[in-house]
Amino acid sequence: MKRLVILGGGESGVGTALLGKEKGFDVFVSDKGKIKEKYKNVLIHHDIAWEELQHTEAKILNADVVMKSPGIPDKVPLVKQLVENDIPVISEIEFAVQFTTATIVGITGSNGKTTTASLAFHILKEELDVGLAGNIGDSFAKQVLEDDFKNYVLEISSFQLDGVVDFKPHIAVITNITPDHLDRYNYDFDAYIASKFRIAMNQTKDDYLIYDADDPVLVDWLEKHPVQSQLLPFSLVKTIENGACLEKENIKITIDNNQILMSARDLALEGKHNVKNAMAASTVAHLLKIRKQTIRESLENFQGVEHRLEHVLKINKVQYINDSKATNVNATYYALESMSAPTVWIVGGEDKGNSYEELYSFVNTKVKAVICLGVNNEKLLQNFSNMVDVIVETQSMNEAVKIAYKIAEAGDNVLLSPACASFDLFENYEDRGRQFKDAVRNL
Ligand code: ADP
Repeated sequence: MKRLVILGGGESGVGTALLGKEKGFDVFVSDKGKIKEKYKNVLIHHDIAWEELQHTEAKILNADVVMKSPGIPDKVPLVKQLVENDIPVISEIEFAVQFTTATIVGITGSNGKTTTASLAFHILKEELDVGLAGNIGDSFAKQVLEDDFKNYVLEISSFQLDGVVDFKPHIAVITNITPDHLDRYNYDFDAYIASKFRIAMNQTKDDYLIYDADDPVLVDWLEKHPVQSQLLPFSLVKTIENGACLEKENIKITIDNNQILMSARDLALEGKHNVKNAMAASTVAHLLKIRKQTIRESLENFQGVEHRLEHVLKINKVQYINDSKATNVNATYYALESMSAPTVWIVGGEDKGNSYEELYSFVNTKVKAVICLGVNNEKLLQNFSNMVDVIVETQSMNEAVKIAYKIAEAGDNVLLSPACASFDLFENYEDRGRQFKDAVRNL
């Protein structure tokens, strides 16, 4: 019996444990932290061995294969030790994919993964037997075990990709690449790019890579590191023969001379970045032979994803928008760009080495007040004090929202788009977004 050790007892860890057990592995789950009650119950119920608050080396170094949860960095000593002992350390996706023959759509990138994956799923589910997994919802491994869909849309982080060996999606999407999570890559941008491109490394000429042709990082990398797969770029400014582009007010998608035209104005989601996400998702759908009418309708009625430019409420003709998921500057760039009214901007949190220059022109033209919401707001004050009439510091969401309420006038927007991680004041970005929505609803 082969021994499968799983580091991390969260969604992907427990899903892998269930699948591993079913496939005849001797499974052991080890978590350095506390395992959530609901996951513990699943492990106990399925008679799977586990430990928490420790890693017992003797029970781990005897593994034939180790599944490491994406949250655990490669540099922790235990992982190093495993690698030194030639024990394969893989990700959940790599483990689970060997047990399905489904068509895989893998979506990665710095921003827009969840939106693009959710949108692609939203279109595909109209006509195909399809699951949505990866960083979203139920783990991929659990779905392979319990649902056995014929197609999967997987949202895949670079951490998941670091742990793939044979993983080969039929359709890969790279939404864009901007510096993020660089701390996990020793501040080496090339290493981070290379990690994202692992999504295409096993692809052949029968597979497809969909990517943003307006992103110089992607274009440049592809020139220097060609892939085997057929390229289907999308662009807002270029003319694209095979792939997606704009023609007047329409999104035009062409694959082997088969064309589909859709009005870009009828998209349910706002903002240029969402036109890109829609292009990527519809190219996937077009490749998988979804009817044109279905693609059009799905793009028009997609409700968006929570915490991504989510319209919360209109109070006294002021629109409150929750973009808590904007945890880096590039995401906030697109949020500010899509603002069509004067904006009271709530920003801040744990800085990831941000540089704010690219936001200056939007702040100058669209932002009437900046509300800093973080433990340390020094950098924001330095960057924006000269740019706006009103800039205030706060350290609680309630206070930030109350001040925004006082400043905003009819026709304005109040936008939470932090450009920073949330961990200084909140559990995570979901908690931050929920607190924002609660505070708005309590106004
Ligand atoms: P991810 O899953 O990659 O983190 P999300 O879809 O959750 O991406 O979006 C994260 C943030 O980035 C949100 O604030 C969203 O408005 C913004 N965003 C979405 N799509 C894009 C894109 N194509 N380019 C830049 N920013 C984007």
